[in-house]
Amino acid sequence: MAQGSRIEWTQATWNPVAGCTPVSPGCLNCYAARMALRLAHMPNGTGRKYAQTAKRARDGRPVFSGHINLDEQNLDLPRSWKLGRTIFVNSMSDLFHDGVPDEYIKRVFRVMEECPQHRFQVLTKRPERALEMAAQLPWPDHIWMGTSVETRAYYERIRLLQRIPAKVRFLSCEPLLGPLKRMPLAGIHWVIVGGESGPGARPMQGSWVLEIKSQCEAKGVPFFFKQWGGVRKKEAGRELDGRAWDQMPGDTECQRNPSMTA
Ligand code: SF4
Repeated sequence: MAQGSRIEWTQATWNPVAGCTPVSPGCLNCYAARMALRLAHMPNGTGRKYAQTAKRARDGRPVFSGHINLDEQNLDLPRSWKLGRTIFVNSMSDLFHDGVPDEYIKRVFRVMEECPQHRFQVLTKRPERALEMAAQLPWPDHIWMGTSVETRAYYERIRLLQRIPAKVRFLSCEPLLGPLKRMPLAGIHWVIVGGESGPGARPMQGSWVLEIKSQCEAKGVPFFFKQWGGVRKKEAGRELDGRAWDQMPGDTECQRNPSMTA
């Protein structure tokens, strides 16, 4: 599946893989599992793509089953988009899941490498495998690599990401589930923060967000505030201190002057 995206920090999604397995507390209310469960019932190729990837947990929550489907038909899709766009890779999965063969990951990277008109954002909760494979993968400037950090318990993911030779390394602190004090931000080029949304959303405190923002300002790291989240995410909006925070890597002003607020 590939489509325009409503995710605030990207323009399109590209999903050459479907399916995943929960790995940490941030996965509890995974929106992709919820969507996959719905899409698996569609009467066409989309239904086949998501077949068996998601199920209902004992408490009724949609959850990924661990079954992975590779979508080879979608593999070359970015080549057909002549106009450059920012693409979130595998919004419905995790490219570095154990069930995705090394060879397939290499093919995904080859497509990205050969499409320099785009900017690809690869986000994983499995940076240990990304690092393990990093020497076998191409890292042109337009392939960005990120990892998710929902609580302090996952700072090790940042340390692994710091060792991956991508030009832009980014953190997605979403769903933010606790304060993130003294983040290791050396070699990190972008931080996204967001609260959880949808059924069962766990609350995020404003002080947690402000603390991350001030660490980013102190280190000159662009800061993007995605949303407050909640059960009615539209109502909660995405303003922080009375404005939106949409900084991106390459926003030279905030990097030149760390105290600038974009
Ligand atoms: S790693 Fe991402 S896609 Fe996979 S279950 Fe967790 S939140 Fe969902």
